[in-house]
Amino acid sequence: MLRTLEDLDVKDKRVLVRVDFNVPIKDGRVGDDTRIRAALPTLEALSSRGATLVLMSHLGRPKGVDESARMRPVATRLGELLGRDVRYLACDGPASPDQQAFVRDAPHGSVTLLENTRFDARETKNDPALARILAGYADAYVNDAFGSAHRAHASTEGVARLLPSAAGHLLQQELHALGKLLDRPEHPFAVILGGAKVSDKIGVISSLLGVADTILIGGAMAFTFVAAQGGRVGASRVEPDQFDTARELLAQAAERGVHVVLPEDSVCAGELKEGVKTAVHPTDAIPDGELGLDIGPHAIVAFREALSSARTVFWNGPLGVFETPPFDAGTVAMARTVAELTAFTVVGGGDSVAAINATGLADRIGHISTGGGAALEFLEGRTLPGVAALEA
Ligand code: ADP
Ligand code: MG
Repeated sequence: MLRTLEDLDVKDKRVLVRVDFNVPIKDGRVGDDTRIRAALPTLEALSSRGATLVLMSHLGRPKGVDESARMRPVATRLGELLGRDVRYLACDGPASPDQQAFVRDAPHGSVTLLENTRFDARETKNDPALARILAGYADAYVNDAFGSAHRAHASTEGVARLLPSAAGHLLQQELHALGKLLDRPEHPFAVILGGAKVSDKIGVISSLLGVADTILIGGAMAFTFVAAQGGRVGASRVEPDQFDTARELLAQAAERGVHVVLPEDSVCAGELKEGVKTAVHPTDAIPDGELGLDIGPHAIVAFREALSSARTVFWNGPLGVFETPPFDAGTVAMARTVAELTAFTVVGGGDSVAAINATGLADRIGHISTGGGAALEFLEGRTLPGVAALEA
């Protein structure tokens, strides 16, 4: 059983909370603060029960101390959102001597944000020495970082084994919503998969073949499926080393009676550039030198039709190069379609969530997963080490 906040005694205790504050930083300020907002219910619940909070997160992928990856902008934004002071010390890492002294000095009831956990090379190695220092900061540990739960790091797994520990609200909510997809979902269950690479998504496709009724495939991934069946995809991005896998997945789908829909047409261009001249071609007859960069108008209609009767929908991965207009059209159209459905809808994946947020329709989605890789690994049926450590 997963231990939750209710299982922890936090009154007048110091609680170490692993959050996912891996947010975009631009010009020293936080851009999209969705992930910070998502942690507020847990932080407010702990504070109102009398806990002193010590928070930690990674930010970006620094190799050692990196001025551009300091947590200061996050501390500032969190302070604004909580409406109270957030203590922060720029230092060499979450376990540096001055950081340790800073945590020791934390007043009762205060909120302290540690420096970027990835400044310490021991974090990603799940080094017990680092886990012990982190555990020394508090009387209890809460993990609310679903996005990092698939990694066994010192701040996610190691420390959980050294303190009374529990899952925060966000982590619990993620597991509940994603769990509903695998455990007796309401049918028809339609899955929309897009994004860059088939190789990233093989595991999740095979796993979802066991529960879904329909799988819609867009994004660059679609070209690998079309090319594997002998289609001409021009200069579109393909992974020839995945052709066998793609054919194998299609055969499995046919065997299980899962309906796979590939985009019948694609929006193409000679190069990937904003506002470039585009043409629509059948996805299996793209002229040489042209790149497929978005699903086409017929594909949009077919995808909509396939979704219309769905009772459960999971979407991961943009359907085109949504960062570069006009190749965002297919993704935007699908975001609208999914938002209008009365089905239970779940969107997961860094770029897919960014796409949904950009359309302003996020509040019309049943559940938006804050964890890309973690959501996919969960749906593959794999054990998430950060979660397993809270169940032991
Ligand atoms: P997510 O983060 O939601 O899991 P991915 O990281 O798998 O999604 O894929 C997102 C990337 O896929 C985006 O950068 C997008 O530009 C790219 N992409 C989507 N369609 C295409 C395409 N037709 N050609 C090249 N890249 C594409
Ligand atoms: Mg991505």
